Amino acid sequence: MQKGNIGITTENIFPIIKKYLYSDHEIFLRELISNAVDATQKLKTLSSVGEYKGELGDLTIRVSVNKKEKTITISDKGIGMTAEEIDKYINQIAFSGANDFLEKYKKDANAIIGHFGLGFYSAFMVSDKVEIVTKSYKEDAKAVKWTCDGSPEYTLEEVDKKDRGTDIILHIDKDNKQFLEEEEIEKLLKKYCRFLPVPIAFGKEKEWKDGKEIETDKDRIINETNPLWVRKPSEIKEEEYLKFYHELYPMSEDPLFHIHLNVDYPFNLTGILYFPKLKNNVEVQKNKIQLYCNQVYVTDSVEGIVPEFLTLLHGVIDSPDIPLNVSRSYLQSDTNVKKISNHITKKVADRLEEIFKKDRKKFEEKWDDLKIFIEYGMLTDEKFYDRAKKFALLKNVDGKYFTFDEYKEIIKANQTDKDKQLVYLYTTNELEQHSYIEAAKNKGYDVLLMDGQLDIHLVNHLEQKFENSRFVRVDSDIVEKLIPKDEKLELKLTEKQKEDLTTIFQSQLPNQDKANFIVTFEALSEDDVPVMITQQEFMRRMKDMNELGGGGAMMFYGDLPDSYNLVVNGNHSLIQRIVEDEEKEIGEKVESLRNKIESLEKKKQELEKAKEGKKDEEVTQAEKDELEELNKKINELKEKKEKELTEFASKEKLVSQLIDLALLSNNMLKGQALTKFVKRSIELI
Ligand code: ADP
Repeated sequence: MQKGNIGITTENIFPIIKKYLYSDHEIFLRELISNAVDATQKLKTLSSVGEYKGELGDLTIRVSVNKKEKTITISDKGIGMTAEEIDKYINQIAFSGANDFLEKYKKDANAIIGHFGLGFYSAFMVSDKVEIVTKSYKEDAKAVKWTCDGSPEYTLEEVDKKDRGTDIILHIDKDNKQFLEEEEIEKLLKKYCRFLPVPIAFGKEKEWKDGKEIETDKDRIINETNPLWVRKPSEIKEEEYLKFYHELYPMSEDPLFHIHLNVDYPFNLTGILYFPKLKNNVEVQKNKIQLYCNQVYVTDSVEGIVPEFLTLLHGVIDSPDIPLNVSRSYLQSDTNVKKISNHITKKVADRLEEIFKKDRKKFEEKWDDLKIFIEYGMLTDEKFYDRAKKFALLKNVDGKYFTFDEYKEIIKANQTDKDKQLVYLYTTNELEQHSYIEAAKNKGYDVLLMDGQLDIHLVNHLEQKFENSRFVRVDSDIVEKLIPKDEKLELKLTEKQKEDLTTIFQSQLPNQDKANFIVTFEALSEDDVPVMITQQEFMRRMKDMNELGGGGAMMFYGDLPDSYNLVVNGNHSLIQRIVEDEEKEIGEKVESLRNKIESLEKKKQELEKAKEGKKDEEVTQAEKDELEELNKKINELKEKKEKELTEFASKEKLVSQLIDLALLSNNMLKGQALTKFVKRSIELI
């Protein structure tokens, strides 16, 4: 029998392992079974290349618990180890500065164990003695037994062992008795070993017989050696994806879509991601993506490996290229991991686009459940936004779905404002903002429904992304002002009213030197001023030039009176009031005068028509007299009408008041006119 010391530099590593790796004790099982799987896979490889010529036989790995003996045994039929190999791989563990390292990473057992190749030694987290009984596949190899009680001393001796392979026997210490419970081991096997590629047997299949559950002699295999994600997507049926999902998340509703990842360059990655139907936040916490390394479960916290917005997805990712045994912060800065993360983003986007293109109807049906993922992605990941903008949908209040481009086309004609900005109208609450929505719809506008958790953020985001566009909530203004436009308003005055108002205003205009006023009408908004004064553009420029000292023709313009427009806003309520007052007070009189004038004008026209084509001497004197008489009468009537209107205008203080206000704002009300204005203003108050 050989005795020796384990080749570590630290005085005693086991107390350290026990002390610091406390919280993660359970991973010993994963580590030891992983070693057994590795040894089995290696043998298969050797056999396939012809280096091992013997029978492979049954390669099932067996795990058993002996509560009486307080042992757990893990047996494999793998390559086994020779005495030299035990010496090399188990005894000579290179482990320098263990204390420092453990101190630094005491919270992250995974990191230490993997990093230093201490997988096997994790057995000492739960055992006070460990035995290895092993027989190498090599011809004539002798079976050996290695024993170590947790001190740096070990013993190595030759033993009898019939079969090739390794048994690891753990003598569980008193602090870890829970691992002697079958249910506990079963739980751990299900957690870590569920999809390992070599069958793992734990106990026997049970059967109901005569009302009693009895054990059969059939091994109970706890793992699925060929899980869905390692199979070819083309050979998998839709139901299988669904079944696998429910195996992973038994309590969840059917997922929306799945994405089968299958990459072998520039890194290895397989997996299936599912877009879940999220019912509530509890589920978001509970169900997570599981990360595997060659089918060995590693963790369900995939932050850093999967882009943040996709951590809400469900499913599995398997990659031997993710450095699993390093700290999180290291992981996030690893370039390989970044590549993987980008690739996953790309794949997810591709798949969504594919579904969108192939089956738009299905995509729309699922959109409401799907949009939280897509919006989250668009908000947090620039690259994803650029991909998602092709298939992301906007939903309007009528339940119709549009892509960004489609929607733009739909609203372009009707929802572009006077500054050429496209205005997206939206509601955040269909019920509360109902009347506004209706008003907008009546105006022919379309209203988007933006009532999701992330929609407000998305609105801000899209406003930055879309050119010359803005989003306006449907209740943020009266409907006329939601999308300001240069609409030609209709003038609320008839021709007759315009005619009368012209006289009314003309009659009250001040007699200013060198100033001509022309009354014009404009259909402005009700909020604009009732009357204003503008100067004709051409005349104003000529005058300005004269003042600057131009000679010749400019002198001519300089002597001309200024021409102004007195612009009456026919739609203003004050103007409407003047019209009403006028109609009430002198309406009938004016109307009958107008009718008379009109009929005389008609007569005059007839006479003139009869005269047409006749030479002067052919027209009779009687005819000439009649025409002259007519003209005289018309002018008389016109004067009469003008007098009526002028009289009315002089009594209606509003007219002068409005004219003066307009003059005042143009700095044209001076001297006596100003004094009169002030007096009148006081009277009106
Ligand atoms: P790692 O597995 O990271 O190399 P371990 O401490 O778990 O580190 O194991 C050290 C070595 O011991 C392994 O590389 C392997 O060569 C050998 N070994 C461990 N367990 C077995 C086993 N069940 N069968 C054969 N060899 C094993």
